[in-house]
Amino acid sequence: MAKLPIELHSVEDIAYAEYLFDKFYAVGSTGTGGVTRLGYTEVEDEMHEVFRQIGEENGYAYLTDEVGNSYVCNSDEQGYYLIASHLDSVIEGGRYDGVAGVIAGLMVLYWIKKNGLTIPVRVGAFRCEESSNFGKCTIGSGLITNETYKHDVGEAVSKAGKTLAEIFKERGYSLQPKRIRGVKEYIELHIEQGKVLEEYGEKLGIVSTIAGPRRFMLHVIGQAEHSGATPMDMRNDALCGAAEIITEIESIGREEKMWKSVATVGVIQNEPNALNVIPGEVTLGVDMRGVDTDSLERMENRMKSSAKKICEKRGLTFYKEKISEIPPIDMSRDMQEGLGAVAKRLKIPHRIMMSGAGHDAMSFANICDTALLFIPCDKGVSHNKKEFATIESICDGAIVIYEYLKGESI
Ligand SMILES: [Zn+2]
Repeated sequence: MAKLPIELHSVEDIAYAEYLFDKFYAVGSTGTGGVTRLGYTEVEDEMHEVFRQIGEENGYAYLTDEVGNSYVCNSDEQGYYLIASHLDSVIEGGRYDGVAGVIAGLMVLYWIKKNGLTIPVRVGAFRCEESSNFGKCTIGSGLITNETYKHDVGEAVSKAGKTLAEIFKERGYSLQPKRIRGVKEYIELHIEQGKVLEEYGEKLGIVSTIAGPRRFMLHVIGQAEHSGATPMDMRNDALCGAAEIITEIESIGREEKMWKSVATVGVIQNEPNALNVIPGEVTLGVDMRGVDTDSLERMENRMKSSAKKICEKRGLTFYKEKISEIPPIDMSRDMQEGLGAVAKRLKIPHRIMMSGAGHDAMSFANICDTALLFIPCDKGVSHNKKEFATIESICDGAIVIYEYLKGESI
């Protein structure tokens, strides 16, 4: 039988994707163009309720797990493909981060049904991927995959002042759930949240590795003294030392850029932060990310030796606290190749790229073959009410997943 060419962006497909997008649209709307749908709040519950309704309207089964993640499925058999992302958002965030991946999964279910195929698929919606509510990310997917770095999550406190353990108790969830079973392969579509695809005019990114973040607090300690009475050569100004350290960290990042590493000081706390007092103590929050462990190691060591040198020169002391370290996580090579071959066949311009941001896919890489796809978002803007991606680009990513699964399941 001759293969019919695949029509991208048919009127019917676009209308279905728009129907899905509109279903979620109003939930958590802030009235100023953005949405706030924090993890493990009632607004996030509402998103999952919409997801359940979509599942029922379209004749699929709906499941939930021990941590409140939910799934819309076309089969209850073990050994299924999981296409998933999250339904929470940051404060005043956009409508595409997370939701785009859930819509892509629902599109795949729609095509499977329309074409009378029997590919077992579950579309998953994970809880609390963003760190905005508890200061911890990928909670729902991390718990259900029993990721080790999620062990201490119960003590995390929400914006409303409750611990995750208290919230779980109220809701009847478990902080030690049984590990998810039966996943053959995990696929996630996400907006890129950067501008690489847009700059290169490409429609799809196939992620090779998700960068591992290392995060630190650097404490620089000097002497708080009267800013008028202390001569310039008798000072131990912690903020001036910290300023040198900040630019040094920037140069360290620049020197490692060929390894695709980045280094950022995103937090600065100055004590006592008064106009007439020489700063006595400064805390810097440092975020280092990369896909190459050696490069991350070099950046961490250089930060330490440079800070030591700068502090010695200025009569300051310092110590560093490591707050978190997640290793770079590789996506399945076979799936990258398989998805790339489909994109090529469908003439969708694509590239293999790294992900600087963390995603739910990180949680699955240890338990099954895992893939992460990016679609472009306007000017790379994300975690912002101006975030925008086109419905067509969601359909592009979804059709690549669908065609890939068709090939896998033959
Ligand atoms: Zn996201």
